Amino acid sequence: MIPAPFDYEVAESVEEALGLLGSREDAKLLAGGHSLLPLLRLRVTRPSLLVDVGRIDELRYIRDAGSSIAIGALTRHHDVATSPLLQEHNPLLSYAAGLIGDPQVRHRGTIGGSLAHGDPASDLPAVLLALDGEVDVVGREGTRTIPAAEFFLGVFETAAGPEEMITEARVPKLSGDHGWSYLKFRRRAQDWATVGVAVVAKRRNGSAESAAVSLVNMGPTPLRARAAEEAVVAGDDPGAVAASGSDPPNDTNGSAEYRRYLAGVLVRRAVEEAMR
Ligand code: FAD
Repeated sequence: MIPAPFDYEVAESVEEALGLLGSREDAKLLAGGHSLLPLLRLRVTRPSLLVDVGRIDELRYIRDAGSSIAIGALTRHHDVATSPLLQEHNPLLSYAAGLIGDPQVRHRGTIGGSLAHGDPASDLPAVLLALDGEVDVVGREGTRTIPAAEFFLGVFETAAGPEEMITEARVPKLSGDHGWSYLKFRRRAQDWATVGVAVVAKRRNGSAESAAVSLVNMGPTPLRARAAEEAVVAGDDPGAVAASGSDPPNDTNGSAEYRRYLAGVLVRRAVEEAMR
């Protein structure tokens, strides 16, 4: 379908983007366009103004920020996937970014767009959640930092307000004691996850001192699988409790029951991989 008519403005800076965003109640930011354009074409959303932020180069970076790595909101998935800094300090994030869609999607889509879109089937939100990452958003009142655990509120719903813009995401540096895994089950190579699992485990003498397990597409938001995390530390089978507290969808890629089973298998394998 063809989108409903809209006006289009290019913002050259964050300040200009915020001004344009606040100029109309239904204005929307456009970054890589790889989630927004399909929604416009389906007329699921009909903003009267699109504010193109895709050329704000000041928000395209991956930097060492001391104990964390900072990633500008307009950094493309391809740059996250191939960043030497992330590969050294947080290979989980770069590995997961390399599994998004196909090369075309990875060269257009941005980390800020992926987080803002709030799709529970997306890869990076669940990875940020497992890493206890943070998101910076800026609005008229200034900048606020939102922990990933408080950022994702529902399907396509986040804690960023309609007149706010994501400027940066941060993930911690992982040490040599950390093991990690990201497993994504999908029907075709370029698809979204039917179910995905991110695991970060802190290892000591062959056991897990702590573990973070998060799930993709197992509810209205990315989820932390708390029962599985406790099982990992206790030395029990995390797969047996992987789906507890989840609310997976039923769709053409799989029933809710199938997804619960799949989550168990993937969590078990991902924990094994992280511990190795
Ligand atoms: P846009 O489409 O431009 O924007 C998406 C939403 O975020 C809009 O509401 C927009 O207003 C808002 N927004 C954008 N930037 C900001 C910002 N800085 N601050 C506040 N709001 C903002 N994703 C996966 O995770 N895994 C996949 O396997 C996958 N496969 C895909 C396959 C295809 C064929 C396609 C088309 C997309 C796929 N995606 C997948 C989605 C892709 O990762 C998108 O690029 C991403 O979800 C959105 O990023 P974007 O920059 O394109 O955002």
